[in-house]
Amino acid sequence: MKNECHDKFHDECGIFAVHGHPEAAKLAYLGLYAQQHRGQESAGIVSGNGKKIHHHKAMGQVAEVFTEAVLKGLRGWLAIGHTRYSTAGDTVLLNAQPLTAGFNKGLVSVAHNGNLTNARQLRKHLEESGSIFQTTSDTEVILHLIARSRKKDFEEALADSLLQVEGAYSLVFLHGDRIYAVRDPHGFRPLVIGLLPETPAWPGALNHGKDGAFVFASETCAFDLIGAQLIGEVRPGELARVDPGGFQVSRFAPETPHSFCIFEHVYFSRPDSVIFGRSVHQSRDNLGRCLAREAPADADIVVPVPDSGVAAAVGYSAESGLPFKFGLIRNHYVGRTFIEPEQNIRDFGVKLKLNPVRSVLDGQRVVLVDDSIVRGTTSRKIVRIIREAGAREVHVRISCPPTVAPCFYGIDTPTQKELIASHQSVEEIRQYLGADSLAYLSLEGLREAVGDAHGEFCTACYTGHYPTKLVTLQMEAASRR
Ligand code: AMP
Repeated sequence: MKNECHDKFHDECGIFAVHGHPEAAKLAYLGLYAQQHRGQESAGIVSGNGKKIHHHKAMGQVAEVFTEAVLKGLRGWLAIGHTRYSTAGDTVLLNAQPLTAGFNKGLVSVAHNGNLTNARQLRKHLEESGSIFQTTSDTEVILHLIARSRKKDFEEALADSLLQVEGAYSLVFLHGDRIYAVRDPHGFRPLVIGLLPETPAWPGALNHGKDGAFVFASETCAFDLIGAQLIGEVRPGELARVDPGGFQVSRFAPETPHSFCIFEHVYFSRPDSVIFGRSVHQSRDNLGRCLAREAPADADIVVPVPDSGVAAAVGYSAESGLPFKFGLIRNHYVGRTFIEPEQNIRDFGVKLKLNPVRSVLDGQRVVLVDDSIVRGTTSRKIVRIIREAGAREVHVRISCPPTVAPCFYGIDTPTQKELIASHQSVEEIRQYLGADSLAYLSLEGLREAVGDAHGEFCTACYTGHYPTKLVTLQMEAASRR
């Protein structure tokens, strides 16, 4: 483990919080379960009753981390939870969230989705003046800033510290009998507010739970599972607070141009979620339709790379009139570790996950739709197995522009030089993939498909133009890795 708050710009996470429910931890468990796709490496929940907290976190997926016995021990009527994925070799339990710290403003727990772009600098200052860090996570910087703030009141100290951090943060805090939910002024990552209308009474409820329980999540699919109604978003630069007296929202930062992550719509969120006020499925269907208009193909069938390419392939098929076919079947039970046979089987890893359907592909001219090409290695293998299953032609269509720059705001991307499109032309990539043709959606097409009429989305991974400062330092750090 590196002893510094380093280039941790690639944590992917899902967060959840609930206030005012006698089974708070169980709801958090379900909320995390629905958001498992946002991070599969560790999971954690902190619950409380206003006086005492209980916590559990471990490496692994939600279903394995929280046994019945563990959940029983997570008592109380408020809770926050987190699922996390990181690839930096920093997979230690120490960095699993929620993080909890005790200081002069009480005991506080936090769960974070996003990445801070000035965490290194802040950490350096803090360490120089005596702070002792327990983790290598950027999130811990926020806890230190709160602890050091001259403001006595927790909420004021929180706002004070948030004004010092830059980058992407959707955060939920558990502090005493309160939940706080915060979104950075750019609004990079989503954070939605929901209400569970009929809540059983919980100890300490001023109104016996009649107003219902407030919940927060990265994605609305978490609300669908627990039966919560979506009532809005924590807007960029806002701080929402729920205490036994009710719900309040305030603004902690001045208005800033918005930078909603466009990749949430392209790939990261579940298609059944509403992200930044818009159905993800609808966006992906539009992506496919725009792609069909921009890059038609003389072909027989449209085949998605499941699951990520399915919705865009449906749109491509509808717009082009070419029939949609499941020519690749995904095995959903592939774990994180598997035993590779000693005898070298070509494309073993990808075949374990995706198998071609010969009866669909044999003799066909195929439009193969996927959401993105990162390193290009998977797409290359998929093109090969489709050909081996008898396809006559393979026309690869990608429902976003070439990924040319890494994300520093919470999406896991490799370094710039590992991104194939950062140094190869579309024609060179086509040759590498072994495809008959290759086309990406244009940036204008992408914006149109997600309804970005006012330039409110961050498209840095497609343009290299980052909406916050200090990214160059992060890039240097990344290239030294
Ligand atoms: P590659 O072989 O590196 O080009 O991988 C491309 C595949 O990775 C596509 O099927 C994408 O759906 C998927 N993908 C793109 N971005 C991510 C991400 N941040 N995390 C996990 N998978 C991704």
